[in-house]
Amino acid sequence: MQAVIFDFDIYLFKIWPMDFSGWEKLSLVDYDDNLTMTLFMAGCNMRCPFCHNSDLVLRPHLAPKIPWEEIVSFLKKRQGVLDAVCISGGEPTLMPDLEDKIKEIKSLGYKIKLDTNGSRPDLIAKFHEEKLVDHFAMDIKNSKERYGETIGVPNVDLTPYEKSVEYLIHSGAGYEFRTTSIMEFHDEESFRKIGEWIKGAKKYFIQRYIDSENCISHGLHPIPKEVALAYKKILEESIEQVLLRGYE
Ligand code: SF4
Repeated sequence: MQAVIFDFDIYLFKIWPMDFSGWEKLSLVDYDDNLTMTLFMAGCNMRCPFCHNSDLVLRPHLAPKIPWEEIVSFLKKRQGVLDAVCISGGEPTLMPDLEDKIKEIKSLGYKIKLDTNGSRPDLIAKFHEEKLVDHFAMDIKNSKERYGETIGVPNVDLTPYEKSVEYLIHSGAGYEFRTTSIMEFHDEESFRKIGEWIKGAKKYFIQRYIDSENCISHGLHPIPKEVALAYKKILEESIEQVLLRGYE
């Protein structure tokens, strides 16, 4: 049933104009040391139970809409003050006019970071090759064996995610991979297999899960720090730099 929702979502996103539904006007943590504005798009083709943007993912049609002109006007006023714009979601690569919007932001002199679940490898390649995106942050939800279960879409076709991983590792693009680690979904085997899958990657984060009212499901648990550190060691056998995020 959920696989049907997945296909239907893709269809809807092709015919509906999509808007940004949230923004954080100053973030110090979204893109290295850059002073960043983060935009959130409503809508996603996944249903990760641990997602903390359930309003944007499950009810995108009810989400508030920020007029694009308002965003551009704000960015014009902050030229020389902010360094970058992080485009997040939901899944922003489903936005039909994302490329035009990125071009407009770029023309104002901002660096762009794109958060993605990796479902549009064609766009990742295009944005890198046309120098539209400076840094990609792609989620690796789990080992391939447990991907469908972890994203709430059983029997998902993994081909796009495999292509995105392959492209990012070999293209020279700026990127990081990241996994939100959860007791109910991830164990030692998960991280061993993730390490095998993305072998040769430059940078990878194990992110701590934080429960909140806006999560799609409740009752999930973060992996304790000492366990995350053990998984980090496993991943360091195949990935250049492995870091913990949210465990400070
Ligand atoms: S965590 Fe990301 S990919 Fe998963 S449902 Fe939420 S927005 Fe979509």
